Amino acid sequence: MEGKPKVKVAYFDFACCEGCQIEMTNFGGPAFLELLNHVEIVEFREAMTETTDETIDIAFIEGSFTREADRKRLESIRERANIVIAYGACACTGGINALKNHQNDYKEAVYGKDADMPHLDSQLALPVSAAIKVDYEVNGCPMNKDEFARIVSHLLHGKTPVIPKYPVCVECKLSENVCLYELGGHCLGMVAKAGCGAPCPAQGIPCEACRGFASNPNEKTLEKVLKDRAGFSEERAKTKSRMFTANCRYDAPLKDKE
Ligand code: SF4
Ligand code: SF4
Ligand code: SF4
Repeated sequence: MEGKPKVKVAYFDFACCEGCQIEMTNFGGPAFLELLNHVEIVEFREAMTETTDETIDIAFIEGSFTREADRKRLESIRERANIVIAYGACACTGGINALKNHQNDYKEAVYGKDADMPHLDSQLALPVSAAIKVDYEVNGCPMNKDEFARIVSHLLHGKTPVIPKYPVCVECKLSENVCLYELGGHCLGMVAKAGCGAPCPAQGIPCEACRGFASNPNEKTLEKVLKDRAGFSEERAKTKSRMFTANCRYDAPLKDKE
């Protein structure tokens, strides 16, 4: 890659806490410094004032698509970018924002008499892919920095990034962790998409499936395991995995419309 012009990258944010951008600013170490030798950051709201309307090589999009008013901006980014990468749960699946898709009157509950303010005019919280074509996803809440570096590095070398579809349990077992169910706890690792290296169960913390579902998650069996092994009530077992998979579950409001 010596002598090649730097790849132009830009970061854009939509409905989110911008925690994934913050996570980017926390990036460090040799892998990231090496990456900076090959990319030129032309827009990144959390870290610089410059913006761009020009063509970019890679657009990183954070946050969910929850206002029709954002569609034009998303389409403009898509038109200008060779590659679009959604990063963070909000952008990849709708993330935690999509919890509102399962609720009525959420605006009134949060904002009371101010619920009708125009800037609160939002619809279902959706992944970025509901508005534009997304080429790759970097999952997690916040997104996984190592995976981010790996995906970008693959693209810079002209390779297709490989993103796991199997569950976190695979990585957990490879790390030889004792299963939290064996310790009297609970965990969503059997339905969560791998790629993070199972850091939560390794620390004794239940996986909350922040990377979304693995392919073909057996949600009904998860509910049974949560009830039979972890003593969850029927209702709690049913809703436990909703936090990061609200748009992906069998009871997702969007699925009614398919
Ligand atoms: S994925 Fe998590 S950390 Fe990233 S923007 Fe969304 S809520 Fe914030
Ligand atoms: S602790 Fe969680 S991720 Fe690890 S094996 Fe058990 S269910 Fe799977
Ligand atoms: S173990 Fe689960 S909650 Fe933790 S980072 Fe991985 S997918 Fe997210």
